[in-house]
Amino acid sequence: MTTPSLPTDVTVYEVGPRDGLQNEPTVIATEVKLEFIRRLLAAGLPAVEATSFVHPDRVPQLADADDVAAGLTSELNAYRIPMLVPNERGLDRALAAEVKEVAVFLSATESFAQANLGTDLAGQRAMVQPVIARAKAAGLRVRGYVSMCWGDPWEGDVELGASIDIAAFLLEEGVDEVSLGDTIGVATTKQVRALLSSARTAGVPTTRTAVHFHDTYGQATANVLAALDEGITTVDASAGGLGGCPFAVSATGNLATEDLLWCLHRQGVRTGVDLDAVVDTTAWFAATTGVTPQSRAFTALVHKRGH
Ligand code: MG
Repeated sequence: MTTPSLPTDVTVYEVGPRDGLQNEPTVIATEVKLEFIRRLLAAGLPAVEATSFVHPDRVPQLADADDVAAGLTSELNAYRIPMLVPNERGLDRALAAEVKEVAVFLSATESFAQANLGTDLAGQRAMVQPVIARAKAAGLRVRGYVSMCWGDPWEGDVELGASIDIAAFLLEEGVDEVSLGDTIGVATTKQVRALLSSARTAGVPTTRTAVHFHDTYGQATANVLAALDEGITTVDASAGGLGGCPFAVSATGNLATEDLLWCLHRQGVRTGVDLDAVVDTTAWFAATTGVTPQSRAFTALVHKRGH
């Protein structure tokens, strides 16, 4: 096997405070979330997704989204702090909080659109169109997540064309970046390469594509290396691997930021992120909340410090 070609720099997009906490059973106090976000920003993470303006009844873990946003007023101009907006009501709340960057999400599959958004594939497009248009008109940066790109708990394998169609639609509607998600963590490098090369051929630019892997089957860092070799330079990750996978029975959720940084830094790829500071942050968060980190690199580095 030849060594994958790696870029000199990778942008690590931190999703722990939103995607991580959304999928943890524990509800975390607002002040703890705010300190978590500030510590992640201080560690050098170039983008930290802070919360989701979802209906509080749907995701009780993020019911304090307005308070989290209000608590970050002084940081919003200095840092990239995107927040998820599932619909126009969510966007209204984000605009009221003077958020500068929002994220929307669509499913690549009919089943997940029904389960997560309560609509079909056409309906989810109609739902997100005005959100993107209004956010862009307000001068916001917009990211578009595509969920279940490589597999779906109901439908199994997903056609390449289904994921690419959604990504292309989001870019046509004006999102600045799409994040292709392996929401249940079933992809391996062959599938990652197949989708990314097909997307590129279909006109989805690598410079506007991020990847979002879950480590359910232990393939996340391998998949990152495959994605980088395919020209991707933005990778989503979650401090401490926060966020148990909501649709697969597994302890592991999102790719851990520490595992990603270890993999990249040891191979000379720059991220601008201080791995030790992320480990400190995860250790602090775990001690404060009782949530157990799911990161091999975190565990190894904490153990090493004790010797
Ligand atoms: Mg995720």
